[in-house]
Amino acid sequence: MYRFDQPAPSYWEATSVGAGLPAAEPLCGDEQCDVAIIGGGYTGLSAAYHLCRDYQLDVRVLEAGHIGWGASGRNGGFCSIGAEVLGAEKMVDKFGLDCARSYYAGQVEAVGLVRDLIIDEGIDSPRQGDAEVAIAVSARGFVQLKKHAEFQFRVLGLDSQVLEAAEFREHFFDSPLQQGGAVLKPTFGLHPLRYVRGLAAAAERRGARIHAHSEVVAWSRQDGRHILTTKAGTIRAARVIVATNGFAPEHLHRVLRGRVLPMISSIVVTRPLNTDELAAHRWRTECPAITSLSLLNYFRLLPDGRFMFGGRGGASGDAAGTERNYVRLIARMHELFPLWRDVRIDYRWQGLVCMTRKRTPSIGQFENDRSVYFAFGYHGNGVNTATWSGKQVADWLATNKLDSAVPPASLPAIVQGMPARFPLPSLRLAYAQGAIALRQLSEMFD
Ligand SMILES: Cc1cc2nc3c(=O)[nH]c(=O)nc-3n(C[C@H](O)[C@H](O)[C@H](O)COP(=O)(O)OP(=O)(O)OC[C@H]3O[C@@H](n4cnc5c(N)ncnc54)[C@H](O)[C@@H]3O)c2cc1C
Repeated sequence: MYRFDQPAPSYWEATSVGAGLPAAEPLCGDEQCDVAIIGGGYTGLSAAYHLCRDYQLDVRVLEAGHIGWGASGRNGGFCSIGAEVLGAEKMVDKFGLDCARSYYAGQVEAVGLVRDLIIDEGIDSPRQGDAEVAIAVSARGFVQLKKHAEFQFRVLGLDSQVLEAAEFREHFFDSPLQQGGAVLKPTFGLHPLRYVRGLAAAAERRGARIHAHSEVVAWSRQDGRHILTTKAGTIRAARVIVATNGFAPEHLHRVLRGRVLPMISSIVVTRPLNTDELAAHRWRTECPAITSLSLLNYFRLLPDGRFMFGGRGGASGDAAGTERNYVRLIARMHELFPLWRDVRIDYRWQGLVCMTRKRTPSIGQFENDRSVYFAFGYHGNGVNTATWSGKQVADWLATNKLDSAVPPASLPAIVQGMPARFPLPSLRLAYAQGAIALRQLSEMFD
């Protein structure tokens, strides 16, 4: 899962050959800058873009693989609202209504930020659909989905609407498991790798220096500066942003140890479906879709008629675990869409999403060194949130000249601060496997 020299064998890589490649030369020799960013995905590149565009700082991005090697280049391309697994209802109980509303206002703003960046920077990524469609796959699931969607609408003020099964079938698609659904706006589908490359190229145009194939292998402090070392060079920086999300290099700094639970998310993509095949499941939407299960599946029709189907849940990335993840995923797709059982799968790949004990995203500074900022923990929903979080970190760092501990008033309290460590971090994968098995079991009885 951590072979930085190998691109994921994804549909996105296959449909981006040569497109919009940023220069991103590897770091070579000894250099210095104001801000060094570790990680060249949406978080790091959005931070770099905003630091350069809005504050004219001297910024370097160090990325271990090629630009978009991580989750940003291999995700499902849902630019949608979420990024937490705490649950909106619990969020209101724990943080209060105003905080929860401000969190979701940030989520809506984040979808708008991505849309604006694509338009303003001329990024070559088609946008598909205008909503995220959730389907219930059991009668009990529909009751829960309805309650949740009504809560989103009534309490949080989100644009959420419930549809009974017949109405859902009329507007979106059908499945023998479909028991009704809900529609949440704003959302759209994009091409994640073209988007991340476009963001990198935009950051470079604004003055950021981006270095691909430049894994940070050591991090030290000298004369008040951070020294980040790669195989072929070093950067001396006044401040650092950690933007590595599910691929966190825990060995680099003790503060990072044990904070994240990387969980596998896998995707398959079929050959293009013809009109008759689409009609078999009454497919008539470009909107990205999910199931309402806690171990959700996500799926969408791609611009060339291929069907993409993904799911979270794997905790083992070795060859046997990988194979099991795909077998389970394809079986699930066939349960939902049995009339596509014989359709060939052309692509399959996987990556890591980032779960934390906080169960909401985390943005902040290291407590023992406030010149280090971080943003991570998007719980599988980072297209909008990582882009937005990169901007939040950039605004905070650039306006906080003395690195004081006070976060900007505009940063929702729910995202502030570092998540607690997992107890016995070396057992994290075992917890994850146990938790997944329990959820799978409980959903069998749903
Ligand atoms: C299969 C899959 C499907 C997903 N689907 C969706 C979706 O549809 N919608 C959605 O919103 N979100 C989705 N996500 C989640 C989303 O992709 C992530 O939340 C988001 O990309 C995180 O961006 P990031 O920049 O923080 O992290 P990443 O894009 O993971 O970037 C972190 C980077 O840090 C680099 N790095 C690590 N260590 C070092 C080091 N020592 N030196 C230098 N660089 C280093 C890595 O190489 C990596 O490229 C999905 C994720 C996966 C894996």
